[in-house]
Amino acid sequence: MALRKIRTDSDEILRKRSKTVDKFDEKLWMLLDDMKDTLYDAKGAGLAAVQIGILRRVVVVDVGDGLIELVNPEIISTEGEQDGEEGCLSVPGKFGMVKRPKIVKVKAQNRKGDWCIYKGEDLKARCFCHELDHLDGKLYTDIAYEMHSDSEFSE
Ligand code: ZN
Repeated sequence: MALRKIRTDSDEILRKRSKTVDKFDEKLWMLLDDMKDTLYDAKGAGLAAVQIGILRRVVVVDVGDGLIELVNPEIISTEGEQDGEEGCLSVPGKFGMVKRPKIVKVKAQNRKGDWCIYKGEDLKARCFCHELDHLDGKLYTDIAYEMHSDSEFSE
């Protein structure tokens, strides 16, 4: 198990565009394994490689029904709309309301390079959008319409 340090919002790397993965080798598999360990250790729902300082188009997602590894992911269709709260492991202690599609279909390669299609609804759709934004240097705080810190919610 290898944990990597999660970069936070003052780190400029989070604003950079990640590059396409073209080698599906042991280096990629190690990155995916470390991202999984780091995600579970931080108790997050998703993690993009840029969040651990690697500018590659790689994302891991687990909203409670198993790990999904997305390499070079692209949104191919969206449906509907939802409003909900988001947080980010790179923006600790803050939450915000964000409008996202209700259903999102993503095309991505797996760790062997095969293309697969994943459908996400509700939280998983939100998570796909949030993580894919990271690959283009975007943070949810750019589009959140109501930000708050968790302390405001505690009594
Ligand atoms: Zn995030």
